[in-house]
Amino acid sequence: MIDLPIDPETVKGFLHPEEGEALFRLTATVAAEGPCLEIGSYCGKSALYLGSACKQAGTILFSIDHHRGSEEHQPGWDYFDARLWDEAAGMVDTLPALRRTLRLADLEGVVVPIVGNSASIAAAWKTPLSFLFIDGSHTLESALNDYYGWSPHIRFGGMLAIHDVFPRPEDGGRAPYEIYRRALDSGDYSEVMEVRSLRILVRQ
Ligand code: MG
Repeated sequence: MIDLPIDPETVKGFLHPEEGEALFRLTATVAAEGPCLEIGSYCGKSALYLGSACKQAGTILFSIDHHRGSEEHQPGWDYFDARLWDEAAGMVDTLPALRRTLRLADLEGVVVPIVGNSASIAAAWKTPLSFLFIDGSHTLESALNDYYGWSPHIRFGGMLAIHDVFPRPEDGGRAPYEIYRRALDSGDYSEVMEVRSLRILVRQ
């Protein structure tokens, strides 16, 4: 088992412990080469795994989210959580939950939250990345923007991880699977690990 500063099961989120452990282990193999980045912070469950690996490697993790929740987190949808509702704003706000996770895990100096739209941030980005984890919105438009906006920033030998990849349509939405296929079909990546709905590829 890997050693984390707090129990990941105390953090709200949708990442299975086996997926989290895979993220930690593979991030640890490349993070010494430079910063890592994730799209879709939510309450910080994956940031706990990725950030802990970055801390060990002496680097940082950028964690992007607009913090207003994905489609399925909105009122009336399957994954709506009333505890994440900002009454004054009349909107979901997951940023306080992320900050709480980072504070409890002593990762505030390692995980750098970036609050905003992934595509806008990608357009201004210049820093090569050792590890990119795409776990944002599952609309096809957003997933394509995340893939095409961010994957060019992965350094050679760096890794691309995608969550919620379901090859069978009856198991879940198609957008993460679609970008996973595009990555493989591009010839720029080869797969190094499959754990549940997580796929990890290396840029070659
Ligand atoms: Mg996910």
